[in-house]
Amino acid sequence: MWQPLYQSEGPAQVFLLMLSWLIAAFGNKTRRTWKEVILAYDNMCHVNNLKVARNDLPLPGDLKYIWKDINKIIDSLHINNHCDPRCKTLYDPQPIKEKNPSFNTMACEQTFAWMSRFKKIVCFMPKTHHHFYIHRMVKRRNAYISYCYLHGCRPIHAKKLDTKE
Ligand SMILES: [Zn+2]
Repeated sequence: MWQPLYQSEGPAQVFLLMLSWLIAAFGNKTRRTWKEVILAYDNMCHVNNLKVARNDLPLPGDLKYIWKDINKIIDSLHINNHCDPRCKTLYDPQPIKEKNPSFNTMACEQTFAWMSRFKKIVCFMPKTHHHFYIHRMVKRRNAYISYCYLHGCRPIHAKKLDTKE
């Protein structure tokens, strides 16, 4: 499951989006479950370096630990762009991929490529229509991808189209 980011993609915005998604998806689960959650993001080092992410969260009960408990990785496509050796130590996706070979840490990049194909269409829509259209497309795409993985096949992803017209 993924959610789109609008306009800027600053670490604080990403942190709040990921945290709200974590609480919605796993907020009623135990800390043991949270320790099995794997969150992949291309800029995880900067998100996890935020002051708010380094401390216990100002949330009730065990929710204050949800961010610290989950496994945070940088996806395979972007890990090599990180020069700081700590990024490879702390957020290397390889051990998790070796343990779970079917994990697709680049799902968001593939979804982004798929979604970018609608850019020219939605740019001509009023804002509300734009959001509604994107929301429905994302819901349908998530259902399609879930169906594919449930039936043991890989979803078809957008390929780079020949732009010659
Ligand atoms: Zn980094």
